[in-house]
Amino acid sequence: MTKNENKQGKLIVFSAPSGSGKTTIVRHLLGIENLNLEFSISATSRDKRGTEVDGKDYYFLSAKAFKSKIKNEEFLEWEEVYRDNFYGTLKSEVERIWALGKHVIFDIDVSGGLRIKRKFPEQTLAIFVKPPSIDELKIRLKKRKTESAEKISMRVAKASAELATAPLFDEIVVNDDLEKAFKDAETLVKNFINS
Ligand code: 5GP
Repeated sequence: MTKNENKQGKLIVFSAPSGSGKTTIVRHLLGIENLNLEFSISATSRDKRGTEVDGKDYYFLSAKAFKSKIKNEEFLEWEEVYRDNFYGTLKSEVERIWALGKHVIFDIDVSGGLRIKRKFPEQTLAIFVKPPSIDELKIRLKKRKTESAEKISMRVAKASAELATAPLFDEIVVNDDLEKAFKDAETLVKNFINS
């Protein structure tokens, strides 16, 4: 397909509980050139972490600026993922990527992922990344050392509820062996893009 024929590309959604490895899988897929994927940079009102860069990892906004964009209906979907921490996909972001002639890949939470699937049912492949177990998830979040113990408990509690939504997704990739998860994800995305 040439760039011009691909004006409205496909939408590849990766959703999972925090710590299940979806970001690693998304990064891997972004490195495969012939998949022609571009990362959807979300907007968020949470604080910037360590090496994160504004306009690359997220568009970092104040809570006030975020709420004003909600009011102006600038979001395709948004969510208060954790208390006072808003996350959302700007309509302008998807348009930016489609204008490049690329497919959009999302790394977003379960509700946001399902909302995109509902809005664009035919164009979207929604993949749920499942951690091997809640215990393993706890271990991974602790190892990451990016959140306090309290925040880890909050994420683990949310993860249990999110796991129940896995059957609503088009596909499930179990991440107990990263290399296998990479391959499985790659095959699913390749088949969908070429369908
Ligand atoms: P983190 O703070 O670890 O970067 O992300 C926290 C959660 O917010 C993750 O589950 C992440 O996937 C989700 N998230 C990131 N961007 C978006 C977005 O645009 N919309 C929604 N609904 N969730 C998002």
